[in-house]
Amino acid sequence: DLWSAQGHVRFDDVTFAYKKDRVILPEFTLDIPAGQTVALVGSTGAGKSTLAKLISRFYDPSSGAVTIDGVDLRDLHPKDLRRAIVMVTQEAYLFSGSVADNIALGKPDATREEIVRAAQAVGAHEFVAGLPNGYDTDVNKRGGRVSAGQRQLISFARAFLADPAVLILDEATSSLDIPSERLVQEALQTLLADRTAVIIAHRLSTVAIADRVLVMEHGRVVEDGTPDDL
Ligand code: ATP
Ligand code: MG
Repeated sequence: DLWSAQGHVRFDDVTFAYKKDRVILPEFTLDIPAGQTVALVGSTGAGKSTLAKLISRFYDPSSGAVTIDGVDLRDLHPKDLRRAIVMVTQEAYLFSGSVADNIALGKPDATREEIVRAAQAVGAHEFVAGLPNGYDTDVNKRGGRVSAGQRQLISFARAFLADPAVLILDEATSSLDIPSERLVQEALQTLLADRTAVIIAHRLSTVAIADRVLVMEHGRVVEDGTPDDL
């Protein structure tokens, strides 16, 4: 149970179809070195979310393999997989419960001190401390009294606390005001440090901080370069 991932992710000849006869990813091969931040861009239906879901083992390939540090995801103990790879999606930002519970989702035994430290790391502490009941404030799925930007910061604190080797992020499309946008962007940089990250990027500012940008079309990578190349 001491397996600890470095975060080297590979797609080896992965073919994937939700339904027979309609291949979404055809013989897809991709190598993401440990620690790299990859921004995924491309038009709607290109296969970005599908790729993200294959890395988080929401689905398995029809053929080929997705590996982490050379280990097929299908051969990993579910516990190791959940610890190594965390996906943050736009829909699942919050559940009904306290802010603290929401931050501790991936680490239920976290102490209050650890929760606060994670919030501080991503710049969420100030607004949480200012809520009526601080970390014990109830939020509902839609956020209740927290804004879209604050919801994102809470989900970042959750991911920071979980501390996975690989972070998959489907960036929210909702627009933020300029101060929130800046906070979220700073939080993102903290969150991405020292781990592999694949971000379905909707903001130019996110693409700019990536090490590598992949442009996808029809289940294929059509451009692969640095933000400066594109
Ligand atoms: P967007 O930018 O709109 O989020 P995307 O690049 O994330 O698009 P995907 O969601 O990966 O695209 O979808 C790729 C293709 O797979 C699309 O043709 C889509 O219709 C199809 N698809 C996605 N999810 C399913 C599903 N659950 N069942 C069947 N087909 C699906
Ligand atoms: Mg998508």
